[in-house]
Amino acid sequence: MSKAIPRSKIIGMQVYTPSARLVGTIKDFGLIPGENKVSLIVETVWGESIEIDWMDVSAVGDIVLLKTDIEIPEVPAERAPTSREQICPTCGKPATWIEQYKRWYCYNCRKYL
Ligand SMILES: [Zn+2]
Repeated sequence: MSKAIPRSKIIGMQVYTPSARLVGTIKDFGLIPGENKVSLIVETVWGESIEIDWMDVSAVGDIVLLKTDIEIPEVPAERAPTSREQICPTCGKPATWIEQYKRWYCYNCRKYL
């Protein structure tokens, strides 16, 4: 057993996966009542808090290294526009993109733009 690591040293450390991906920064510890378990509360790079089991930690040095890769959700990219907007020049109502024909169709006028 290695010697105990003071809490003050752990808090604020960066957590990395074995494949050297940054998970986040340790904010606190969590203890699970009735269980001999400690969880690290990590604020991830994408701004969420996750818990990592202390048993999943492989090494503590200048950073905390995990034993196994954990799934890091990708930071949500700027949301692509879900629908392209096109106004029918005849009636001024929104037209509908018909993917099959790659053309805009106005259901109001029942014709392609
Ligand atoms: Zn129209």
